[in-house]
Amino acid sequence: MVILGGGISGLTALHYVRKLHPDCSVALFEAADRLGGTIGTDQIDGYSFDWGPNGFLDREPLTLELCNDLGLSDDIERANGSVSNRFILRGNRLRPVPMSSPKFFTSDILSIPGRLRVMMEPFSVSRSDYVDESIYDFGKRRIGKEAADYLIQPMVSGVYGGIAERLSLQSCFPIMREMEDQYGSLFKAMISKAREARKKGKKSGGPSGPGGWLTSFHGGLYKLIEGFHEHYSELINVYHKAVKIEKSDSVYRIEFENGNSVESNKIILATPSNSAAELVTSLSSELTEALASIEYAPISVICLGYDASQIEDSVDGFGFLVPKLEGRRLLGSIWTSSIFSERAPEGKVQLRCMVGGDGDHESMDLSDTDLTSIVTRELSEVIGISGEPELVKLYRWKFGIPQFKVGHADRMLRIENELKTLRNIFVTGNAYYGIGLNDCVKQSFKIAHSLF
Ligand SMILES: Cc1cc2nc3c(=O)[nH]c(=O)nc-3n(C[C@H](O)[C@H](O)[C@H](O)COP(=O)(O)OP(=O)(O)OC[C@H]3O[C@@H](n4cnc5c(N)ncnc54)[C@H](O)[C@@H]3O)c2cc1C
Repeated sequence: MVILGGGISGLTALHYVRKLHPDCSVALFEAADRLGGTIGTDQIDGYSFDWGPNGFLDREPLTLELCNDLGLSDDIERANGSVSNRFILRGNRLRPVPMSSPKFFTSDILSIPGRLRVMMEPFSVSRSDYVDESIYDFGKRRIGKEAADYLIQPMVSGVYGGIAERLSLQSCFPIMREMEDQYGSLFKAMISKAREARKKGKKSGGPSGPGGWLTSFHGGLYKLIEGFHEHYSELINVYHKAVKIEKSDSVYRIEFENGNSVESNKIILATPSNSAAELVTSLSSELTEALASIEYAPISVICLGYDASQIEDSVDGFGFLVPKLEGRRLLGSIWTSSIFSERAPEGKVQLRCMVGGDGDHESMDLSDTDLTSIVTRELSEVIGISGEPELVKLYRWKFGIPQFKVGHADRMLRIENELKTLRNIFVTGNAYYGIGLNDCVKQSFKIAHSLF
């Protein structure tokens, strides 16, 4: 068995292949000189900068089980309680995101008519037939245009770097669709879920699903990847970029850029979907086309280190998101050193900013200097910063986040059908059924389960 790709998806697949099928011989091949894909952490001058993701929600038991299997349970760090202070930028002012109904009624995040429209949600028109509705259309239909613009769109750009009008509700937030189908209203669904959770003695979550607490590791998320490396180094080959897969007599032959090759009767493709598309060209044109048509949004992470005295406003909280209508380049900012410990030296602050997304592919062409100056200027206008950051670190992801656009579910059906026809070739990763780390873990676990 061969696994291609050493991000969280490939590594989790490796772990569960070993755990569930201990007799199966398996090897993982990674193109880069390191493991982790978009997961990485740099330790610089007392700051700890995460390259891509900075945590996962602790609501997925499989991810916690994985951490435990890797001996990392004691290294887990849960986000500070202030993480529930979240803000949305509106009219150049940060407005707290209300976390309860009474707070929502008195909040100024939406106008009075906007808030009244949200309260009418239980009486909104239901979806008549089966349609792969966009997240924006769903939001507008259920809670009104203003809430779709100022609450839903920023959440979509915070999670997907995406544009709510283009993304599929069913593929991105299936739970919301289920809530509407099952209860006829999101409010009714939340009330029922809260009641059920109370009965079970649990806390329930908001509209995006059961609650979860942002979780990482002391020192940064890369600890997770080190855990895999410690356990499986003898099964892992870095500097092995697969360039071609061919099949003869039910055996797959994989060629690597460095001239090596291997044969295997089963392959798990855990590379990004665009790279998987290139690899399967000689196997199926239908599969190649379907994989290649999954688009990605670029995203740049700009980590900034400041002396605390430079920042005028309080940055005690998770950070803020910027609605598209505000016309800024910044998608949002996460106040990392308020969320986790050891992310900045004593007396210093780490702020992490995101630029790009599906609405700003041009941001990838900005020079480092221009990108930094746009971000620091926009950030200063919001939270009042004097002077320049003492440390800047940029991480650019040209193919950052897959976009589950309207039609994604049909595309996935085509992919699944082609894989079934080919037999013994599987795909896992963030491009298919969910982009979060928990989704990648779940998907790879499922694949490892279904191998034999
Ligand atoms: C900026 C950013 C912030 C994010 N924040 C969060 C967050 O806070 N929480 C969260 O849950 N999720 C977050 N995500 C999403 C999450 O990080 C990703 O979905 C997840 O890490 C993807 O893992 P993966 O293994 O599927 O893919 P990748 O990490 O892309 O790994 C794929 C691997 O395949 C390798 N590869 C590619 N081609 C080949 C080839 N031909 N042969 C061999 N190897 C190959 C690559 O080098 C890479 O190592 C974020 C993503 C980004 C970009």
